[in-house]
Amino acid sequence: MDEVLSSALQSAVFGRLDYFDRIAREGDEPSRAALADTEITRLTGAWRSLLAAHQPDERGRCPQCSGRRRSRRHPCSVWSIAHQHLIAADGVPAGRAGRHAAATGRSTAAVLGAS
Ligand SMILES: [Zn+2]
Repeated sequence: MDEVLSSALQSAVFGRLDYFDRIAREGDEPSRAALADTEITRLTGAWRSLLAAHQPDERGRCPQCSGRRRSRRHPCSVWSIAHQHLIAADGVPAGRAGRHAAATGRSTAAVLGAS
């Protein structure tokens, strides 16, 4: 991807994220409800796709986060960031429910017994 396209792509994605933040922060109730109805599923789908791309291989290494010599051990930075924002941000101690939830494919809420 050339530099102009890369810049346009980054600008479009960050612009969309800024828009979501603005609606969540400043939108009226119907706007926030519409945002939740449409975009949460899209965002969880994006996270699942990203995490699938960074799923560790049979050696426990991320195939996407490769260095010059070898790929990184799991969890790579993508999984660490996912855990930080999706699990640790809720106050769940690291290494408890988050890893278990990821390993089992169950939601964190299900692992924690919330329904
Ligand atoms: Zn990775």
